[in-house]
Amino acid sequence: MTTFHVALSGVTKDYGKQRAVDGIDLNLRPGECVALAGHNGAGKSTLIKLILGLIRPSSGQVLLLGHEASGSAAVRMRNDIGYLPETVALHPSLTGAETLAFYARLKRQPLANNAALLARVGISQAAKRRVGGYSKGMRQRLALAQALLGAPKVLLFDEPTTGLDPASRLLFYEIVRELRNNGSTVLLSTHALAELDGHTDRIVVLKNGSKIADGSMSQLRHVADLPIRIRLRL
Ligand code: ATP
Repeated sequence: MTTFHVALSGVTKDYGKQRAVDGIDLNLRPGECVALAGHNGAGKSTLIKLILGLIRPSSGQVLLLGHEASGSAAVRMRNDIGYLPETVALHPSLTGAETLAFYARLKRQPLANNAALLARVGISQAAKRRVGGYSKGMRQRLALAQALLGAPKVLLFDEPTTGLDPASRLLFYEIVRELRNNGSTVLLSTHALAELDGHTDRIVVLKNGSKIADGSMSQLRHVADLPIRIRLRL
């Protein structure tokens, strides 16, 4: 039985001489939402790519639902993981509905659920319009819908609310709450710590690839040696 949806032990990742992630231990339970914080270059995106199995650790182990994340078994679990990248490439001449259908085919998901997903992210009305005319918030909602295809057990969101309008941000955290209630695990990287209050169980702070703090928002407020810009956002 898998206790943790995601389990990292002693994970290090080097790009040549550059150590991007340095000896990270991190366990994520079912239904848990954890935020990854840290300055630019702290290692947040690298950690997400390691969990996705897009890159292999230089040392240590990354387990996704009990399997090596970059191993062959993980390929069969592609539908158990949903990913919202920091920058989403959406084709401007496709409509919202066509875009989601494209991703559903890629993920071998039935198209029948797409209308409900578009409604869930609040873009049913715009589903027949081309994505090229969408606002940033609408594009992000559509990208979120593709991450939710197949009801994944693990969701990885890379700076999901950066530049979003307040209504889209609110909707995003509502969906995070639903996901947690359904037992899915959410890991999100962010610079916007102040808006996380009540939405995450813990915040993990990275600095130069190392974990320097791991706790609830109120616990972190008492950690004296956090980088000043992170302290100010708590
Ligand atoms: P940001 O908030 O800017 O996205 P981050 O916390 O996600 O930053 P990473 O993108 O994981 O940080 O980068 C961690 C370190 O690894 C940085 O020093 C970065 O320059 C380096 N790095 C990341 N990807 C590569 C790569 N493909 N090749 C070489 N170095 C890389």
